[in-house]
Amino acid sequence: MEKSENEWKKILTPEEFLVLRKKGTEPPFTGKYVHQTAEGTYVCTGCGNLLFSSETKFDSGSGWPSFFTPVSPDAVVLKPDKSLFMKRTEVLCARCRGHLGHVFDDGPAPTGQRYCMNSVSLRFVKKE
Ligand code: FE
Repeated sequence: MEKSENEWKKILTPEEFLVLRKKGTEPPFTGKYVHQTAEGTYVCTGCGNLLFSSETKFDSGSGWPSFFTPVSPDAVVLKPDKSLFMKRTEVLCARCRGHLGHVFDDGPAPTGQRYCMNSVSLRFVKKE
């Protein structure tokens, strides 16, 4: 899933490009999936890779859609991120390496993890 910057620009909206390819962050409480509770799955906006299930989504109060686990450990890639003078763990799509958000250790049971995602990096697929 190798694409040039120009190819990504043709496929993605400017907002999606900024987050997925430039590691930007959407402002809190602005994303379309923050309060989404419908049953379904969330796939990568860039490539359609299956990432999260509504069954693992929870209200973190952070202003970003939050999950306690991806659908499988293989769905995402975790990478140390020391930008902005913080030690964080970046979450990337395993297929297209698009930036999704970060994961923190203050999530709920059963994993204790909080996958803090950008809505623009995700596309919701409603359960039929
Ligand atoms: Fe992807």
